[in-house]
Amino acid sequence: MTDVVHEPRALREACDQLRASDARVGLVPTMGALHDGHLSLVAATREAGATRVVVSVFVNPTQFGEGEDFDKYPRTLEQDVELCRERGVDLVYAPPVDGMYPEGFETHVEVERTTARFEGAHRPTHFRGVTTVVTKLFNAVGPCVAAFGRKDYQQWRVLWRMARDLDMPVEVLGCPIVREPDGLAMSSRNRYLDAGERQRATAIVQGLRAADAAYRDGEREVARLEALARAPVQADFDRIDYIAVVGAESLEPCTGTAGDDVVVLCAAHLGQTRLIDNARLGRDRL
Ligand code: AMP
Repeated sequence: MTDVVHEPRALREACDQLRASDARVGLVPTMGALHDGHLSLVAATREAGATRVVVSVFVNPTQFGEGEDFDKYPRTLEQDVELCRERGVDLVYAPPVDGMYPEGFETHVEVERTTARFEGAHRPTHFRGVTTVVTKLFNAVGPCVAAFGRKDYQQWRVLWRMARDLDMPVEVLGCPIVREPDGLAMSSRNRYLDAGERQRATAIVQGLRAADAAYRDGEREVARLEALARAPVQADFDRIDYIAVVGAESLEPCTGTAGDDVVVLCAAHLGQTRLIDNARLGRDRL
């Protein structure tokens, strides 16, 4: 049975009860329009020891910037609950916006260094919205293991940092990217793509594969790896926000020679749609 709750107090009570009967609670925060990428996170919490799983579905207004896609973001709660039910999820938490941000709300959580570049530079208010809402989710759920996708690689690092810095009683997992058969990273935003854009969208994974293949062959020159990742995206996308080789833990941009644990981060625009993707070179399956 999948229960749907809408209020933080109801969620906390339900989770406290589960823990009182020795359950280990897993949490999968999402904005809904669920796909196999989200559902892989449900499985990941179980692999990490969760015996009961909560999925939150909340299109969080504070992580969208001015002019971004908050209004048109897909909202498919009924289908999402059905998918959760099929996967044996115990609770779906779907709070209303004014429940999450009641009148007079004025408190935020900010992570500094890890948010400074890349997504943080291109979407200046984004991470503050994410870290604040995820803090609220962690508080409403209580001690748990929470799964995030490495699809949003920087977000995972930011939330891992936040939980650690603020002594949150949450184990933060970073889980592999789930891809379509042609390699495109699954994303709720892929629904925005028309047929032509959908074809061109694979340019990102083509670039990542080219950089990954070169890295596996011994290429370590950062400029060369970035050029390989960039070429197909430059050809098929309308605008690139960034393509950069960075340290997998520090997220500091690499210069000169790439080390042995690096990630290529990419964000680019195709028509009205902004897509992100990444690969840990020599390690990820692409
Ligand atoms: P979203 O609903 O887009 O906010 O994503 C909710 C969670 O699912 C985040 O932790 C994402 O990183 C993760 N996620 C989204 N797409 C994928 C994917 N293709 N593979 C793995 N995780 C994903």
